[in-house]
Amino acid sequence: MSDQDDLLAAARAVKERLLWLERGGVRGVLRSAAKKVEARPVASVPTLASVPSAVIREPSSMTLTQVRDELGECTRCKLSGTRKNIVFGVGNPEASLVFIGEAPGADEDATGEPFVGAAGQLLTKMILAMGLSREDVYICNILKCRPPGNRNPESDEIAECEPFLKKQLAAIRPRMMVCLGKFAAQCLLRSDAPISKMRGRFQSYEGIPLMPTFHPAYLLRNPSAKREVWADLQLVMAEMDRLGLPRTRS
Ligand code: SF4
Repeated sequence: MSDQDDLLAAARAVKERLLWLERGGVRGVLRSAAKKVEARPVASVPTLASVPSAVIREPSSMTLTQVRDELGECTRCKLSGTRKNIVFGVGNPEASLVFIGEAPGADEDATGEPFVGAAGQLLTKMILAMGLSREDVYICNILKCRPPGNRNPESDEIAECEPFLKKQLAAIRPRMMVCLGKFAAQCLLRSDAPISKMRGRFQSYEGIPLMPTFHPAYLLRNPSAKREVWADLQLVMAEMDRLGLPRTRS
């Protein structure tokens, strides 16, 4: 293969990755990549139980892209004033399995993609260990904007943002979900129970089986808890197998 063929293959791979990100809801990557090419031509949880629960309308008449369009450059809550990027979600718009975290952190705020920092890299390893890839599943957060200083989300922010999570789920129609960490579990299940009590068994979120487990960031601080997370993911894999859902990496 010539140098020119190598360059063309690399450009095609980059374009496919950018298209995949945009299909999953990450906005502006193609435009910002194009601009860069032009520029360089050479190369404690607040009263969760009191937050009203929005209802998933199924079947959804909206696609994921339409949900993203409706969200727009959202200013529905005060986090719009401090965020750099909306972190909508990423992955397969028809995923059987969705991972849901709490809110973007600094790396995610900077890139517009969920779970890309150290915790995100661990999540990617967990997904690979399940026989899947990030492209097979869908990954998002309850809040689409980073709370300043990574503070806990507040109830008014959840009330404004969660309806869009529900619209995303109605568009994707996953067969099961994994929620990552105490906050996401307590918020989605409207419970004050500790994550150690909720994990390890399927719960239900709007009729979708939901497995709560520890957040990858917690695993970075407490590696011994990886065993429990792996046990939770094995239950998810067993259920996927029972339902005949593919677990072969694409
Ligand atoms: S957190 Fe959600 S509701 Fe608040 S500004 Fe961001 S996208 Fe809008």
